[in-house]
Amino acid sequence: MKTILEVKDLSVQFRTEEGSFHAIEHVSFSVEEQKTLAIVGESGSGKSVTSLAIMQLIAENGKITDGEIFIEGQDILKLTRKEVQQSILGKKISMIFQEPMTALNPVIKIGDQITESILEHQQVSKKEARQIALDTLKQVGIPSPEERIKQYPHQLSGGMRQRVMIAMGLVTRPKIMIADEPTTALDVTIEAQILNLLEELKKKFKTSILFVTHDLNIVADIADDVLVMYCGEVIEKGPVADIFESPKHPYTKGLLATMPSLDQTKSVLPTIKGSVPNISKRPSGCHFHPRCEYATERCRKEKPKTYVEGAHHVQCFLYAPKEGTKHA
Ligand code: SF4
Ligand code: MG
Repeated sequence: MKTILEVKDLSVQFRTEEGSFHAIEHVSFSVEEQKTLAIVGESGSGKSVTSLAIMQLIAENGKITDGEIFIEGQDILKLTRKEVQQSILGKKISMIFQEPMTALNPVIKIGDQITESILEHQQVSKKEARQIALDTLKQVGIPSPEERIKQYPHQLSGGMRQRVMIAMGLVTRPKIMIADEPTTALDVTIEAQILNLLEELKKKFKTSILFVTHDLNIVADIADDVLVMYCGEVIEKGPVADIFESPKHPYTKGLLATMPSLDQTKSVLPTIKGSVPNISKRPSGCHFHPRCEYATERCRKEKPKTYVEGAHHVQCFLYAPKEGTKHA
C-alpha cells in the first residue's frame, strides 16, 4: 500500500516567558492511501501541534527542532516556504478546522472564498472556478448552492459552515485531509452527518484522512488506525481493532474505560485519576507514572522504549521483553 504521509521523529519546541519546552517529542507515524488515522488525546497532549506542524502553521514562538515530514515520499521540511505553499499546502494536503467561523473570512461571500482558493491553486478561468465551487458545494451536500455562494458565513448554520470548509479543503483534490476536531462545535446529529460525509468523500476522491480528536466514540466509527498521545508523545498506536479490543498502555485502557457504552447502566463514568500534567512541567521517566497504578521505581526514573508486536506499538515497561529473551 502506498504511504501518503510519513512523519518521522518530529519534535516541536516552544519558547515562552517561563522558558522553552517541547510540545511534542519524537512523534512518528504514517498514513496510507485512502486510510484514516485518528490521533487521540486529551487537550494539551500535542495532537493539534502535530497537525499544525505538518501544515507548517505552528505559532511564531514554536519551531520544529527535529524530524522529517514526507508527503508522497518528498520531505517537505527541506522545501522553502514558497515551495511548500505552491506545491504542497492546499494541493496535496488540506486542513479542516474545528471552528469554521474563525477559518472562514466573515466579510467575504462563500462563493468568492471558494473560487479564490481554486484560482490560487489551479490554472482555470474565473467562470470555471465558479463552476468547480458549485459542483463541490453540491458534493458536500449543500442544498441550492447557487443561492448559498452569494451568502456570508454568518448566514449559514454551524453544520453548513463545516460543509463549506470541507468543500474548500476538497476543491484541489488533496491526497490527504487533516481534520482537527471538525465536529466538536456541532451537536450530535450534525456531527454524525459530517462524519458520514467525510467517509463518503474519502471513498469518492480516494483521499486519506488524519483525524484529530479527544473523542474515542468517533474513532471507533471512522478510523483504520489509531495513535494515542500523552504529554507530547505517542504512547500507543495500532489498527483500530487492536486498540479497542486489546489496548496495552494503562492510559489507553483508562481512556477506553471512561467511554460510555450503549448498555451503560452506571450513572457515573469511571475517570482516570489525576489530570494531564502541564506540558512544560512533564513528570520524569514515563510521563504517565503519577497517574499509573502499575508505576515502579524504574518508571519514575527511566523513559520506556516503544515495544512492537505486529502493527501494535506501545511505550510502556510492562511490555518490555522479559530478561533473558532476545530482542527480535
Ligand atoms: Fe505505567 Fe510504568 Fe507503563 Fe508508564 S511505563 S505506563 S508508569 S507501567
Ligand atoms: Mg486542539
